[in-house]
Amino acid sequence: MTRTDPPFAGRTVQAVFFDIGGPIYDDENFATAVLAALDDLLAEQGRPPADRARFRAVYDGVRAAQSGSLRRALAAEFLGDERRRDDLHARTRRYWRHGPGTLHPDVLPCLRALHGRVRIGALANQEADVLDALRRDGVAPFIQVWAVSALVGHEKPDPALFEWAVKEAGTSPANAVHVGNRLDTDVRPARALGLGTVWVLRGEAPPEPTAEQLAEPDVALPDLRTLPRLLLGTRPGDGDRRA
Ligand SMILES: [Mg+2]
Repeated sequence: MTRTDPPFAGRTVQAVFFDIGGPIYDDENFATAVLAALDDLLAEQGRPPADRARFRAVYDGVRAAQSGSLRRALAAEFLGDERRRDDLHARTRRYWRHGPGTLHPDVLPCLRALHGRVRIGALANQEADVLDALRRDGVAPFIQVWAVSALVGHEKPDPALFEWAVKEAGTSPANAVHVGNRLDTDVRPARALGLGTVWVLRGEAPPEPTAEQLAEPDVALPDLRTLPRLLLGTRPGDGDRRA
């Protein structure tokens, strides 16, 4: 039997917080909503829908940079004024849904493996109706800490949302790990507070992360399949729960 594997060998993980867009739901849900909102605003200017290739180029540019607001970049590129970011933001809310079939298939197996061993939280910038999707998809029963921006009133990367989650979980940053798919709103603020960090390379993560980017989190993973073992290793008394 082995002890907790690196990179979390020095921690006793008591709480794990999951970003929702990317780690749990397909980030295309958000991209699709932003694109629909953008088309609306263009139509209001009497203009045709956004060129899809150009939209993807801006989206991929923000993914590669891992900083800055997608909606601000799109407002500048398509609406001619980055100050229209707020309009795009408001319109995106009309379309942003996590529809059936967009839950990543590795989520429930991961949560089942963690259940009862650590406190599990959602830590995400999301609208309140994300709860309906999480209930429909069987995720909600596993979540004990609801650090969702629309519910708590703080947004990532504000450290207040992370601090709220840690406190609500009844643990300390050193004994908590955050799992997210962006460096600017997930890995960096979590790390700055002393939480362990997992960077999930899907959705808004860059298609080809650089060595410098990969060095920022404690670990980067392509998906959630190996996460429970990484977080828990093999703890004394776990042998009978591994089947
Ligand atoms: Mg995300």
